[in-house]
Amino acid sequence: PVGLFGEQRKNSMGVNFGNDNEIKALADAIAASVQSWKATPLVPGATSSATPTPVTDPADRRRTVGSWQAADSATVEKALGNAAAAQPDWDRMPAAGRAKILEHTADLLETHRGELIALCVREAGKTIPDAIAEVREAVDFCRYYANQARKLLGHPEVLPGPTGESNQLFLHGRGVFVCISPWNFPLAIFMGQVVAALVTGNAVIAKPAEQTNLVAFRATQILHEAGVPAAVMQLLPGDGATVGAALCKDPRVAGVAFTGSTETARAINRALAARDAAIAVLIAETGGQNALIADSSSLPEQVVKDAVNSAFYSAGQRCSCARILFVQEDIADKVIAMLAGAMDELKIGEPRLLSTDIGPVIDEDAKKILDEHSARMEKEARLIKVAKMGEEAAHGTFFAPRAFEINSLCQLKREVFGPVLHVLRWKAADLEKIIDQINATGYGLTLGVHSRIDSTIEKISRNVKVGNCYVNRNQIGAVVGVQPFGGEGLSGTGPKAGGPHYLTRFVTERTVTINT
Ligand code: GLU
Repeated sequence: PVGLFGEQRKNSMGVNFGNDNEIKALADAIAASVQSWKATPLVPGATSSATPTPVTDPADRRRTVGSWQAADSATVEKALGNAAAAQPDWDRMPAAGRAKILEHTADLLETHRGELIALCVREAGKTIPDAIAEVREAVDFCRYYANQARKLLGHPEVLPGPTGESNQLFLHGRGVFVCISPWNFPLAIFMGQVVAALVTGNAVIAKPAEQTNLVAFRATQILHEAGVPAAVMQLLPGDGATVGAALCKDPRVAGVAFTGSTETARAINRALAARDAAIAVLIAETGGQNALIADSSSLPEQVVKDAVNSAFYSAGQRCSCARILFVQEDIADKVIAMLAGAMDELKIGEPRLLSTDIGPVIDEDAKKILDEHSARMEKEARLIKVAKMGEEAAHGTFFAPRAFEINSLCQLKREVFGPVLHVLRWKAADLEKIIDQINATGYGLTLGVHSRIDSTIEKISRNVKVGNCYVNRNQIGAVVGVQPFGGEGLSGTGPKAGGPHYLTRFVTERTVTINT
């Protein structure tokens, strides 16, 4: 396949679920890797004395997965000093050398696939198919950004000039980059941020979400094994309020890559702006209030299949998930009835089983927010369906997928990060109003369109301000190098992850003019 820069590059392979031998090999690799995992700060010269915090499985809180230790303020300080001292040498290394390390990282991720899948399932409650996809995406980010770095940084760009003058444009790492990654893609987004910053010549300090330190720790060890120096890639487990805040106010930090809530992105932006230091760059990928618009020409079966997949799979814990289904009134009753039927078929429960469609939500706080939202919706909206949960869900943080019919988008104040779909009927004359309402939310991440009418597809996709528009398919699971991912407005700053412009935000440009 030819990629965005015309490169010959293949995305990582999945698992063939039709092949029993492949499934058995994967199951064996997962079983063989299970252990009591530990995560600590990875900072040369610092020792952590913090009391370990146990990590339990979101699918069953009685099961311990491992433990992690938080970084204290001396460790944070040490990490900043290490990174600032190590970055210039790393930046001087030819980009091709750094790209090779990323490719080696990709190979090692594939070698350790069984363990990484086991970790994503046990620590983050991911289903096995989602965990497989997670490793694939991490591998793809490594190979894709390695390729991009060779093209972008491999040689300076030679620019025109008058006779006797040479002009060249060089790209360099900005300095120390802080990468703050979310629990919903504990491996893929962690790796995506980190390897983009590393391959462009930055030293990285990674602060993963507190819920998924174990995955981040193993990923960091793999980067070190692949050849990234320990002072160039450091890990600081800890909470956002202490570790994250200490990093963002430090003048040595040249940039932050963040994926998480819009509120936290704002807080980071404020902290960076308040420093008496050079102005830092912030790359933020935040939330969404994503719509799926289905008109009366669309196929109800397909609308329902894609709505279920986009709203409920991954327990609705993707920022790309569909939250609002706008369905044209002519087909609304049919779609709603079919939606309720499809929800009866969902298997919610133990994510270790391949037959499970939907696992737990990440933790008690997430469940509480969803319970509160659901209680409000039960008063203000019409309940279409609550999916049934299995017995095994009793000890975990499970939240059954549900759908409500609402009257107005105003009923949704903010993003609800879980498996809740809100259905709204619309009339043909209202299409423009819907487009305006979606744009008025201020978010702009994903949009699904189901229609067989070209002019409708064009009208919607041209006028709804989103980063990723998907027509007649589901709206989750962007593929690296195929669907560059990221939004606008309240959904993020860009550039898009897995796209040809992502690396450019991690570099600084230097023009060298020589009078020859
Ligand atoms: N890239 C993911 C997708 O396309 C979503 C990333 C996120 O949730 O932050 O589904």
